[in-house]
Amino acid sequence: VLQTIAGFDRIGEENAFAVLARAGALAAGGMDVINLGIGQPDFPTPPNIVEAAIKALRDGHHGYTPATGLPALREAVAADLDRRLGAQVDPDRVLVVPGGKVTMFAAILMFGEPGAEILYPDPGFPIYRSMIEFTGATPVPVPIREENGFAVSAEETLSLITSRTRLLILNSPANPCGGVTPRGEIETLVAGLAEHPHVAVMSDEIYDQLLYDGEEHVSLLTFPEIRDRLILLNGWSKTYAMTGWRLGYSVWPDGLYDKARKLAVNAWSCVNAPAQYAAIEALTGPQDAVAAMVAEFDARRRLVVEGLNALPGVTCATPKGAFYAFPNIRETGWKAKPLASELLEKAGVATIGGPDFGILGEGYIRLSYANSRENISRALDRMEEFLAG
Ligand code: PLP
Repeated sequence: VLQTIAGFDRIGEENAFAVLARAGALAAGGMDVINLGIGQPDFPTPPNIVEAAIKALRDGHHGYTPATGLPALREAVAADLDRRLGAQVDPDRVLVVPGGKVTMFAAILMFGEPGAEILYPDPGFPIYRSMIEFTGATPVPVPIREENGFAVSAEETLSLITSRTRLLILNSPANPCGGVTPRGEIETLVAGLAEHPHVAVMSDEIYDQLLYDGEEHVSLLTFPEIRDRLILLNGWSKTYAMTGWRLGYSVWPDGLYDKARKLAVNAWSCVNAPAQYAAIEALTGPQDAVAAMVAEFDARRRLVVEGLNALPGVTCATPKGAFYAFPNIRETGWKAKPLASELLEKAGVATIGGPDFGILGEGYIRLSYANSRENISRALDRMEEFLAG
């Protein structure tokens, strides 16, 4: 048996992909499966973006680009951050990467090693913990509590920082809970971080445009006092319905950018060229498709929350961002993972058990409402029938 490094005995997974595969297998076997499992928009990528990629191919953009990304794309990212968030970013600190996930991979790899502690949200995106464990660092969960509106508590987060803390991972709007951390909490956190200059921050803002009820996105980029240690994670997957294009970007501070660039040269050389041209069009072209998608997500959000709250034993807080509902299912008498599994196998509704997002996920399941209103209604009917039986 070949001996690999210990990290591969610890590396985890994203169970949403296993559920996607199982749902596909059940569907192939003839079952009518409604997929509320995987977190990806059900909309096609807007046609102007698709056309830009086709044009790039026709125009002969078939070779390597700079490892950091096309200059025009990095400039478009900086202009977009300025326009939307009022954040001033040097295009030479923008790195175009093959998917939002790659930024967390790079950032955690940069700070994780045995003895280091890395703070991450729980419940949260499962890859944070998986990657932390891969590096041998100690994962320190930052509780994301329903009673706190699924927002980050600055006070609790700061209380978990020690001299060994190397990296703090933040995510708002959040997966899987749909929480949005309010400005006041972020301000308190940033102020408190002044006392911990040894802690880098990775802010995962991939859902920054998927907000409802007039919520504002407060980007960590707009706090100059932490810019020298802030890594921003963002991308096109969710906002522009481009999950399969594998495209994202990060903003790195001066001291880290060149390290990230070298990692890019070693690992992926550059992001595929036509996708980068498509990304320029996404940022500089008309934005009405984004507004239309957000409006539709909003309607589905209301539908799913209302439907879930009508189910026996289920209560669902209203998510403020992203496209997930995270209902509390404790009173149904079910544990979360068996419930998610049975809902798929018996009722043909794919969801994800809360424990797949962390220790505090027990008692919850995650439903992605990136599916049609018709399918959401059918799924709710099936869940009602299942829970009644
Ligand atoms: N960050 C969060 C919080 C996510 O939920 C996801 C995808 O589900 C990502 C990052 C990764 O996005 P990408 O598909 O661009 O790698």
